[in-house]
Amino acid sequence: MTDDVLVLGAGVIGLTTAVVLAEAGHRVRVWAELPPERTTSSVASGLWGPGFTPRDLAWSRVTFTELSALAADPASGVHFERGLEVSNLSTEPPPWLDDLPDVRMLGPDELPDGMLAGLWTTVPLIDLPRYLRHLVDRLSAAGTEIEQRTVRSLADATRAAGAVVNCTGVAAGKLAGDDTVRPIRGQHVVVRNPGIRHFYLEAVADVEWTGFFPHGDRVLLGGVSQPGEWSLEPDLEVAERIRARCVEAEPKLAGAEVLGHQVGLRPGRPEARLEPERIDGTRVIHNYGHAGMGVSLSWGSAHAVRDLLAGS
Ligand SMILES: Cc1cc2nc3c(=O)[nH]c(=O)nc-3n(C[C@H](O)[C@H](O)[C@H](O)COP(=O)(O)OP(=O)(O)OC[C@H]3O[C@@H](n4cnc5c(N)ncnc54)[C@H](O)[C@@H]3O)c2cc1C
Repeated sequence: MTDDVLVLGAGVIGLTTAVVLAEAGHRVRVWAELPPERTTSSVASGLWGPGFTPRDLAWSRVTFTELSALAADPASGVHFERGLEVSNLSTEPPPWLDDLPDVRMLGPDELPDGMLAGLWTTVPLIDLPRYLRHLVDRLSAAGTEIEQRTVRSLADATRAAGAVVNCTGVAAGKLAGDDTVRPIRGQHVVVRNPGIRHFYLEAVADVEWTGFFPHGDRVLLGGVSQPGEWSLEPDLEVAERIRARCVEAEPKLAGAEVLGHQVGLRPGRPEARLEPERIDGTRVIHNYGHAGMGVSLSWGSAHAVRDLLAGS
């Protein structure tokens, strides 16, 4: 297989797709407006979680397998951590319980205030800046370097390659004329790690919630999920509320030195789009709209792109 494929985007979706295609024998180029370290992907909390639909669950299982292999090499940025996931949505255990390794359900007297269910589990936690560098290096080893280029339309790309994969995240709404895409703004406070090893995540339906994610000497404190918000400026009032909630959940975080603030726009869509289309006779495969699950679904959706191309 030596088809010439142009991947648009160098976030976790574009890079993973490019790696999978290059390692399958395609000649791959990557064009990206922003380099990996300036993407939404670079500010993700990095927690792997199971997909919510049968398709996404299958994709997250593929990702889990790939990440498990990568965790053997700390330079990849993938590490397994134990952590607490709690929810105020239902008293029932989640339907994907069997996909979580090493589970211990919380008893009623162990639940944080307001939460209806909770569990401890040990899952991949990915230090995104390091992980994206790993993917870039792997791509480079396969002969592909990232070119910093912005396309104004998908036709700009179809003129340049035998096939195009559209992994442009939240920008795909405009490029693909897809008005179901909208940003879901997220924000982290980054603090020096005062000795925290476990992660904590509240699965709730609220715009503001609590979560913290240790990555070596720093901890990412979250979070917010603000639909329709495009601002990339850190909101310092939001940041203070995030910090206060995290301190309440984990008193060790009180006084932790603040190293910075991060903002990212999750590519919201009712579900991620994995779909072929022909533009000016060239095959375009859309692979965008992974919302708050892009890291977790990345390898599964990249494999689906590879399989679609192989079927052409
Ligand atoms: C605060 C926060 C925490 C998160 N935590 C998690 C988590 O714990 N687990 C999880 O699974 N997911 C998490 N996510 C979600 C995850 O980060 C996203 O789903 C994922 O990053 C989307 O990746 P992407 O490659 O599609 O988009 P992006 O990372 O946004 O990359 C898009 C790429 O396309 C390029 N591009 C855009 N327009 C053009 C153009 N016109 N021409 C050329 N290139 C273009 C961009 O420059 C960029 O390179 C989190 C997100 C946020 C914001």
